[in-house]
Amino acid sequence: MNNECMAMLAEQWEHICQNYSSDELLQAFKFIQDHSLILVEEFYKKMLVEKESAEFFSDELIQQRLLNTLNAWLLESFSVGINKRYSEAVKKQHMVGQVHARVGIPSWLIMRGVCEIERKVFELVAQNPQHHMITICSYIVRIMGFSTEIMCRSYEANLEKNNDIKHSYRLFSAMQDVAVQKDKQRGSLLDWENELMFKVFSDNTGFNHLVLSKSEFGLWFIHKAAYAFAGSEQVDVIIGRIHEVDQLNQQVLVCTEKDKTIQLIQCIREKNREIQHLVDQLFQVSEYIESGNDSLTQLLNRRYLNTIISREISFSRKNNAPLSLLAIDADHFKRINDKHGHAAGDLALQFMGEVLVESVKGSDYAFRVGGEEFLLLLVDSDLTRAQEIAETIRKRVQETPIRTIAGNSFNFTVSIGCSLYDGHPDYKRFLDAADSALYAAKNNGRNNVYLGK
Ligand code: GH3
Ligand code: MG
Ligand code: MG
Repeated sequence: MNNECMAMLAEQWEHICQNYSSDELLQAFKFIQDHSLILVEEFYKKMLVEKESAEFFSDELIQQRLLNTLNAWLLESFSVGINKRYSEAVKKQHMVGQVHARVGIPSWLIMRGVCEIERKVFELVAQNPQHHMITICSYIVRIMGFSTEIMCRSYEANLEKNNDIKHSYRLFSAMQDVAVQKDKQRGSLLDWENELMFKVFSDNTGFNHLVLSKSEFGLWFIHKAAYAFAGSEQVDVIIGRIHEVDQLNQQVLVCTEKDKTIQLIQCIREKNREIQHLVDQLFQVSEYIESGNDSLTQLLNRRYLNTIISREISFSRKNNAPLSLLAIDADHFKRINDKHGHAAGDLALQFMGEVLVESVKGSDYAFRVGGEEFLLLLVDSDLTRAQEIAETIRKRVQETPIRTIAGNSFNFTVSIGCSLYDGHPDYKRFLDAADSALYAAKNNGRNNVYLGK
């Protein structure tokens, strides 16, 4: 949501409030304040009946936290009419929507909860009917609806963004796989061609040869590379050429004239060279492949951090598997640069990248999230493993001298904060916990590992 939209929503909120006297706004706030606990309980009681919501709210700890959050949300939403801080209120709803999107709570579930609150409001008013309460109720319903609308607007905008990133992540992982295969597949295209020539020139009577689209190269291109490079113009051309080669191949199999066969083979070779050339071109557009990687350290950059963390969080929740996060930051790095030069600093960062990768398993994730800041997401890891890995990294960095191009050498250190995933569905909390632990490690004098709660 952009600023313009937020300003428009703030104005609309103000218009709603202008329909009521300040006395009515105050009474509505008091009504909510007096009954907020009952309303909040109603919200969750009804929501827990839904199968989908049990997935999010089953944990008692989370329920307790959410009860408090929802209670605060209700009180804040209804104090807006009194304190007139409309812009802040809109921002707050916007933020709540973002949290829901991060957690992945469907918006219909939130609507359901809001309806339950409204139903309960009417039930409470009916117990002690007073004429002026009709006006109060209308205000309450309008504010509940309007704040939910803002939440849903922000929710949808975020969900769309997340889906785009998820899609490009899938592409990115497919590409990495494709990049590893590239040279091998270049070889298999040549093998296919050589085999055909060998058959043609050594055995003139009835032989068989698999079409290119069913060869190792053809299958790889059609199933993997075409998907990885979907949208590039070369893809369709290459697939077209592969099928043309298939037809030429079939003609070779039935051709009885030697000259004609040689002509066909020549034609196949030309088409194959073209295919090879186009495949190379595809890979030259490989900033694509680099786009998720940090070029200095070859670690993952921030781009896919949220996607990966939220995926691992939901795995951890579903399978009850521990998940840990290390936040790692080079100590006094500014001084290192000042003393030894930026290029030497770069070497130190590259070395850190290597240490991180060498200290973990292939299933863990290493990110460079800022200049001299790194994150390690350790899957299936409790704090004990996290601490062991953190200590290994800390010691190795401390003990290894970095040699500069000028022939000097220097040592540097890192501080590391560890946190264990606590089950909260919002991944941002997990990131914040690792950051706070890192902050504590810095405060403890640097060059140390701090275990967060
Ligand atoms: P602290 O121990 O509190 O982390 O101190 P610090 O100096 O490391 O922290 P600060 O965040 O103030 O400074 C980080 C420095 O890292 C600033 C910048 O010069 C350096 N830096 C960031 N990115 C790079 C990079 O890509 N290469 C090099 N050589 N230095 C970098
Ligand atoms: Mg630093
Ligand atoms: Mg830093």
